[in-house]
Amino acid sequence: MYIKQKSRLGILVDDIFAKHKTGIYHPENHQRIFAIKKLQKKSKDFETAEKIPPKLAKNEQLFLCHSPKYIQLIEEDCRLSKQIGPDDGSFTLRTGDVQICSESFETALFAVGGVLQAVDWVLKDRLDVAFCAVRPPGHHASAECGMGFCLLNNIAIAARYAISHFRLKRVLIVDWDVHHGNGTQDIFKNDPSVFYFSTHQWPLFPGTGKKEERGCGNILNFPIAPGNHSRLEVLNAFQSDLVQAMESFKPEMVFISAGFDAHYQDPLGGMNLTVQDFGILTGVVKEVAKRYANGRIVSVLEGGYHPESLALSVEEHVRILKNA
Ligand SMILES: [Zn+2]
Repeated sequence: MYIKQKSRLGILVDDIFAKHKTGIYHPENHQRIFAIKKLQKKSKDFETAEKIPPKLAKNEQLFLCHSPKYIQLIEEDCRLSKQIGPDDGSFTLRTGDVQICSESFETALFAVGGVLQAVDWVLKDRLDVAFCAVRPPGHHASAECGMGFCLLNNIAIAARYAISHFRLKRVLIVDWDVHHGNGTQDIFKNDPSVFYFSTHQWPLFPGTGKKEERGCGNILNFPIAPGNHSRLEVLNAFQSDLVQAMESFKPEMVFISAGFDAHYQDPLGGMNLTVQDFGILTGVVKEVAKRYANGRIVSVLEGGYHPESLALSVEEHVRILKNA
């Protein structure tokens, strides 16, 4: 009899990621973490997963993708938020479009460090797959510039770390967030060891991610019009184009920029994906990981601004990560 083997799943979710304040009316707020945390009592997969602790990242790990000058800017601005007050998330990072408080930098360090811990555990064969529910999100942050609610590019640092510390030669990042991950693309556009695959709404912030943007042949962008057909186009890109592209790239590890703002109820996006669709996407990525990468996946939260559909989508994502 064939017995389907489940993957060893690790989950990083912690109240510490609620400490990054962005103001009460901001869509990227601490309630997102509490919505996901509730799954610990509701979902068997969450309950039985190995807990990955948050861990402070070191500066040299940040420098894998960010300049020392930019890191200094974040530190200074977080200090300024406290000095000027009221330190409630109403302070905007100098590079624009990221609300911060005095604890934002430390929270971002815990996010990066936690994700790197997940990479360690997967590549040291303690886990097969991991999901990291961290804030602030990362995929809009480039080497020198935070934007779009993102301070440090969690997934980019994690990919570089896997390459530099574990001598991997080929790493895949897939990104199904409704927004294009311009920061991730910018960091890797000249780096053939990382393949970046993104589906995103077009037109929409940040205005990048055209088909012609191919990097050094390591980038595939699928700009998709909002509306009724968007979910089918996203599914099709993953089911056919991703699978086909990986036949030649053959990644040794897979990262997911897991944004859930392509859900039909999301207030920021205009796509119409359902909870089940995120399960289908996860399944496709899992097949790719099983075929080439020994099943190794680290998934990191990006967007998703409707708390209920975010939690349901995460639950489905994690269920397939573990059981498919
Ligand atoms: Zn997004």
